[in-house]
Amino acid sequence: MKALRLYAPGDLRLEDIPIPFPKPDEVLIRVLACGICGSDIPRIFEHGTYKYPLVPGHEFSGVVEKVGSETGKDWVGRHVVVYPLIPCRQCSSCYSGLYTQCLNYDYLGSRRDGGFAEYVTVPRNNMIPVPDGVPGTTSAMTEPCAVALHAVRKAQISVGDSVLVTGAGTIGLLIALWAQSAGAEVYMTDIVVEKLRVARSLGFQHLLDATQTPASDWIKQKCKYGVDIVFETTGYPAGLETAIDSCCISGKVVLVGNPAREEMRVGSKQYGTILRKEIAIIGIWNSSINVYPKNEWQVVLQEFRKENNLYAKLITHKVSIEELKELLTEMYNKKVFPVKAMFVNEEI
Ligand SMILES: [Zn+2]
Ligand SMILES: [Zn+2]
Repeated sequence: MKALRLYAPGDLRLEDIPIPFPKPDEVLIRVLACGICGSDIPRIFEHGTYKYPLVPGHEFSGVVEKVGSETGKDWVGRHVVVYPLIPCRQCSSCYSGLYTQCLNYDYLGSRRDGGFAEYVTVPRNNMIPVPDGVPGTTSAMTEPCAVALHAVRKAQISVGDSVLVTGAGTIGLLIALWAQSAGAEVYMTDIVVEKLRVARSLGFQHLLDATQTPASDWIKQKCKYGVDIVFETTGYPAGLETAIDSCCISGKVVLVGNPAREEMRVGSKQYGTILRKEIAIIGIWNSSINVYPKNEWQVVLQEFRKENNLYAKLITHKVSIEELKELLTEMYNKKVFPVKAMFVNEEI
């Protein structure tokens, strides 16, 4: 099979390797599509992965090709998505059902082979069936959609809340869509005009190019006392300061973006604002497939069944495995700004 493997940071090679064989508790997936996550770019070109060579990619959909001895043959041929975090099921977090907080987890696409290949083996417990009628490219959006949903659920949005999203990247836009469907009035800022254009095409109207006006000034014009909730998705100190400056008294700042730099410092003015306004800071990590309180992946997949769902509209670039390395390199060099770019192996 063809697979894009990482040998060291920046050393990606398209190779022909044997199709892996599923262990008793695994299944072999024929990849339909695998999204490029914002985190894949620094992982591939800067930090590297936990072992080498390794196939990156953790946002994939596929069809079950072959099952290990512990899985029924009736799974063969089913369209599934795969939760990329593999919990140990033995530590204190797993014992409490908090799989995303597992102390000894494995992870598809960073610790073991992921979806930038024609086939991948995954633990049977990590696959989730996709409802009929959902295309494989849409279902490959499940992971980022679930992460965004998780953030919105953690923020406990109420109807009528005002929400600022700093950063109109994939996660920012997905958060904006969920926040809107939860009944919030959504404001968004970015410094890349193309991303704001996508936000506009999704129907958002309160958009600011933050290179022109400081976002917190703009927010104060729109909402006198600041917004109820800010989602910080940029991972830059300036985004964090904007978030704090734009928040209302007793508001919430929800931190979603991975830090883009070594440090995420805020000025003492913003630090004072957190104290004075009693702002709650909420951290977000991953998404939940637990039944309680909610399997967020199931919520997303049900949403995908709706006609004209806006989530699939975020897919701006589709490439073959032969073109994937070039696209990743262009994204790293900031030559292209896809909202969601995807390796597509097979369209269904
Ligand atoms: Zn991701
Ligand atoms: Zn664990």
